[in-house]
Amino acid sequence: MNILILAFIIYLLYSLLPTAYYKWFKVDVVRDLGDTCKIALTFDDGIDGIYTDKLLDLLLKYDIKATFFIVANTVMGNEDILKRMVSEGHTIGLHSLEHKTALLVSHMYTKDDFRTSIEIMKRCGVDIRYYRPPWGHINLFTLKNIYQYNLKLILWNVMVGDWKKRATVEEIENRLLRDIDSGSIICLHDGRGRDEAPKRTIEALKRVIPVLKDKGYEFVNMESIYE
Ligand SMILES: [Zn+2]
Repeated sequence: MNILILAFIIYLLYSLLPTAYYKWFKVDVVRDLGDTCKIALTFDDGIDGIYTDKLLDLLLKYDIKATFFIVANTVMGNEDILKRMVSEGHTIGLHSLEHKTALLVSHMYTKDDFRTSIEIMKRCGVDIRYYRPPWGHINLFTLKNIYQYNLKLILWNVMVGDWKKRATVEEIENRLLRDIDSGSIICLHDGRGRDEAPKRTIEALKRVIPVLKDKGYEFVNMESIYE
């Protein structure tokens, strides 16, 4: 067999098929909350030294418990923000060590990614139970580590492109109001955004949260969904 075809088949089995399986079929990675009017705000890519605190202020104002999928190498220097998240009742999940795609990394890299991230979190007193891979990409060893550390893989069913450089506050607001429905697991971003993207995410949420509250939605975090 042509070596290139063989390499492609291995790559397909290693990461493309596992990623496609979870991203397309969403088997057990988006909890069906049924017709309960429950929705979950989740935030990826932080901790951000500027915006995460502002987001926490907004969530506190409306007494909303959310879920933060944190990039572990952002914790250093932001330990107080992490402590604040915990003390204000948010769920802390993991979003890898340094936000690399699992499609292109080895077994050893994946193993070290999980081990180091979980150690960083443990040193801050946080026991990680939920994992969201960057871009939703996984490889076979991502799954192995998720199983080994007894984590729950969480994806999303609402994503509005709030991280994009050109996404305006109005666009984010309109897409959220259009797409959110009972049972939505909403993926937003409080870090890594281009051109102050998290600022626009927060501004959009300031407009959207009161509307959703008026509609009767209840905001839940992963802990209240899974425990
Ligand atoms: Zn991410």
